Amino acid sequence: MGVHEGLAAKVGGPVFEPGDEGYDDERTGFQTADPHRPGVIVGAVGAEDVRAAVEYAAARGLPVAVQNTGHGLPLAAAGGLLISTRRMTGLRIDPEARTAWIEAGVRWGQVIPEAAEHGLAPLSGSSPGVGAVSYVLGGGAGLLTRRYGYAADHVRVIEVVTADGRLRRVTPGSELFWALLGGRANFGVVTGLEIGLVPVTRLYGGGLYFDTEHVADVLEAWRAWSATVPDEMTSSIALMPVPDVPAFPEPLRGRHVAHVRIAYLGDDGERLIAPLRAVAPRLIDTVGEMPYTESGTIHNEPPVPMAYHATNFAFGELGGETTRELLDLVGPGAPDTAIVEIRQLGGAMARRPSVPNAVGNRDAEYVVGVLSRLGPGAAEGVAVLHGRVADALEKKSSGRLLNFLFGANATPEQVRASYEPEVYRRLAALKAEYDPSNLFRLNHNIPPAARPARTAEGRRGE
Ligand SMILES: Cc1cc2nc3c(=O)[nH]c(=O)nc-3n(C[C@H](O)[C@H](O)[C@H](O)COP(=O)(O)OP(=O)(O)OC[C@H]3O[C@@H](n4cnc5c(N)ncnc54)[C@H](O)[C@@H]3O)c2cc1C
Repeated sequence: MGVHEGLAAKVGGPVFEPGDEGYDDERTGFQTADPHRPGVIVGAVGAEDVRAAVEYAAARGLPVAVQNTGHGLPLAAAGGLLISTRRMTGLRIDPEARTAWIEAGVRWGQVIPEAAEHGLAPLSGSSPGVGAVSYVLGGGAGLLTRRYGYAADHVRVIEVVTADGRLRRVTPGSELFWALLGGRANFGVVTGLEIGLVPVTRLYGGGLYFDTEHVADVLEAWRAWSATVPDEMTSSIALMPVPDVPAFPEPLRGRHVAHVRIAYLGDDGERLIAPLRAVAPRLIDTVGEMPYTESGTIHNEPPVPMAYHATNFAFGELGGETTRELLDLVGPGAPDTAIVEIRQLGGAMARRPSVPNAVGNRDAEYVVGVLSRLGPGAAEGVAVLHGRVADALEKKSSGRLLNFLFGANATPEQVRASYEPEVYRRLAALKAEYDPSNLFRLNHNIPPAARPARTAEGRRGE
């Protein structure tokens, strides 16, 4: 007999406790390093399940975590109640209004083809497997966002269950709307979002893969080139030691490659990327015209769950000395290597949106991610390596990007560094109002400010 037996009668979806069949599958997602270990899981099938689960947890003082795909697993729940949203896959496109209503369990891979049927695209990211709602709430730096702005800047309506167990519909102008877009799970469990779509069906995109001996030259060429391109160009570069196993294409196996990723919305793409192609011969070159429905092939990220340690550093400017330091630390030939990914931000992402939100570090022009896979017994060595990287990069970095803070190594300092100080202070003050007991703390947590800074305007968040 389970501890939470009464909960099953309150919700329509399944309830799992440790030892139940399905418990392990439900708590585990893409990041397998340190999965949630909740006391109970609600497999929510709709907004009312989420509301009932939050009410149940609040009444018992159980902290609440929420998970869709596990791509962004922050602090793992040890105890508490986990709301699993993966069954909430409702999706409605309104072609006239150019909007989509997406439920909490929807992944980008579901939205992209449905939007394409109407000549539209969402401001999705590199991987179709990522959950759309959390990506948007964390900002959402995608393949089209240098042209159109952060995905969060295109949200019209948010439906959310707050710590008091109320299901609310929040719209631009409310402080809860401002806080959720950037403050994410700290302010409630979002059950659905209305997002704007953009009129994009095709792009010029793909990947340029270069061999080990060209990595330094390609990195330097991309760094200099990226500073000159228009906002219609979104690109990134990954430096990757590729395992010598059949899961990877033959030309890449066993090499430390540079992979330049291109997503361009103009018609002169060939000319624009010519300087990159001129650096060296490519092991693989997939750049060309493609429908947006194939945009997941640009980064070509692995869809299979894995254990990894990753962190990120945002930069206002990316100097050659920083990239050279990265190469020395974890590039080809370094004693310990890691996957390095540098994405160009800026463009429309750096501009203030017409409806303000709490997305942090908008001024960042680049984000550098460093990722190590975790094999058995590797955690300690990886932590030391990432400590060395942090020592080198932190002092030059302008902060962090919330969406790229992964796993238990996302510390409270890194969460704070994901926002400008005044934004963080305002979020902490609003947290004290909307979630004073920090019911939603098993996340990239913003603890409530000591004293709520209530303004004379009164509560406007409904
Ligand atoms: C391979 C890969 C590619 C990525 N590409 C991009 C990219 O191109 N651009 C970009 O910006 N980010 C990218 N990300 C980061 C990604 O957007 C975040 O990790 C995001 O949080 C993942 O959401 P999820 O639902 O898939 O993951 P989950 O791990 O299920 O969710 C992450 C966290 O979000 C919060 N959350 C989830 N659902 C809700 C909800 N309904 N209400 C409130 N809070 C919620 C919870 O705190 C949860 O722990 C990528 C990540 C990976 C691993």
